[in-house]
Amino acid sequence: MGIGDDDTAATNLRLLETHFRQHPVTGPTERSAPTVKPSVPVDLDVVDHIRACVTEIVTDVRAVNASPGPMPERVTDVYTWYLDNTRTAGRFQQQRRDTIIYRQRLEHAIAMRDFTVIRPHRCPQCRTMGLMWRVELKRALCTNMRCLNEDGMSNAWTLARLAYEHIAERENIRQVSAT
Ligand SMILES: [Zn+2]
Repeated sequence: MGIGDDDTAATNLRLLETHFRQHPVTGPTERSAPTVKPSVPVDLDVVDHIRACVTEIVTDVRAVNASPGPMPERVTDVYTWYLDNTRTAGRFQQQRRDTIIYRQRLEHAIAMRDFTVIRPHRCPQCRTMGLMWRVELKRALCTNMRCLNEDGMSNAWTLARLAYEHIAERENIRQVSAT
């Protein structure tokens, strides 16, 4: 991977994990009001999120590698493990892997409410900038007034779609420069 998406995914996961570990300890409600559970639902969401990400990676590795190396002890090393165990996979499988890593990187950022990761992406439909993350939709909404779907509504994109477009575009650039 040329542009360090796996490093960024690991960094974001590390930040998320730290956030999850520190939050219950430093939460102001814990000492002053011990009867109130500090932000438990949020933290459980993060635990579920991390678990789901690791499960997705393990499933994808097993699909292409019958005898993968042992799982890393630290969850943040899972991306290195992912790359190490898919090196001999075919081109399309590697593209899928890169898409998964990139999407998880976006997911980790969104989970920490860092919505700035959306901005660099173009709308897959109208190709303009100006996507805005909408928490309630869990989608990036296109703010171009002329960019409407068949129901006349603004187009809104999942992180999976943005990740797919990002990696596909990168592959196209690589192919063009190789010929
Ligand atoms: Zn658009």
